[in-house]
Amino acid sequence: MNKILKILIVLNDLDEKLKIFKDPKYREIFNISSKMIQTWEKKRENEFNKLPIEIQENYERLRKRYGFGLASVTEGSCNNCNQKLPTFMLAIKNPNKELITCPNCGIYIIL
Ligand SMILES: [Zn+2]
Repeated sequence: MNKILKILIVLNDLDEKLKIFKDPKYREIFNISSKMIQTWEKKRENEFNKLPIEIQENYERLRKRYGFGLASVTEGSCNNCNQKLPTFMLAIKNPNKELITCPNCGIYIIL
């Protein structure tokens, strides 16, 4: 698997966790402390810093626009914008070896 994609998957997972941890509703239910959030933020920062600067910028831009920077594919369609991906993209022999983005919404794609 592509090295950057691997980092993006971990980063996306950490961002999802942090989103939940920071939600006041969940914080109360699961008794999430500020210290816990700090620990996860540090993990997130470590992962983020492994990315090349242009990927960092793009990822943050996507997150601002869509709430996340990475999307999976269901039945040939991007799970962010629901547009069908071009056939050649879906026919790639070694999926996820290259870092690809959705031609429609620009989000990073995991096949
Ligand atoms: Zn898309």
